[in-house]
Amino acid sequence: MAQTLFVVSAPSGAGKTSLVRAVVRRLNSLTVSISHTTRPQRTGETDGVDYHFIDIPTFEKMVADDLFIECATVFDHSYGTSRQWVEQQLRAGNDVVLEIDWQGAQRIRAQLGATVGIFIFPPSINELRVRLEKRAREDSDTITRRMEEAMNEMRHYREYDYLVVNDDFERAVDDITATITAVRRGKKPAQRPPPTSLLRLL
Ligand code: 5GP
Repeated sequence: MAQTLFVVSAPSGAGKTSLVRAVVRRLNSLTVSISHTTRPQRTGETDGVDYHFIDIPTFEKMVADDLFIECATVFDHSYGTSRQWVEQQLRAGNDVVLEIDWQGAQRIRAQLGATVGIFIFPPSINELRVRLEKRAREDSDTITRRMEEAMNEMRHYREYDYLVVNDDFERAVDDITATITAVRRGKKPAQRPPPTSLLRLL
């Protein structure tokens, strides 16, 4: 059976990383890619677990050596997915999840075609703002900018195959798990549609 590359995108604050981790714990033969980034490490993050944190010259050298299957600039920092790691995992019989932004998703789709895209929505715009504010890492200017970036990310939802709403964490984990399981079995997953109040704004 051919392995599948799942591409998961979401606006910052939609809970994508925690959701994907919970899904990967539940399913066999599913691994999540650890991206390389030039973004500074945040408190609580571990190098080699959350990201491979590298400096700009190292990132540029990796781009020049064609070591990334895709890369993009997000919020002023560079992010890239290791080509070798993804290919190794697929060859080893694992399905792979890439947690990347809409630009990376477009590049992966253009290169490989056969990917499955999952887009995760927050329950509402207000809830997204509250979640971004709760992170409290940023000043209000940055939160405003993050909100704009989040809206921009969400405007690309139509480019994805399946939509999931993170209104309740466990339910969203169930939805993503069910989607991946259905795709693996060649079935069409059931979907809960995102709130129309949110879609209307996009
Ligand atoms: P954060 O810095 O908050 O962890 O992530 C910022 C954004 O970068 C998120 O939208 C995340 O999905 C995206 N991102 C993380 N790794 C990659 C990657 O390897 N490639 C691309 N294109 N985007 C990434």
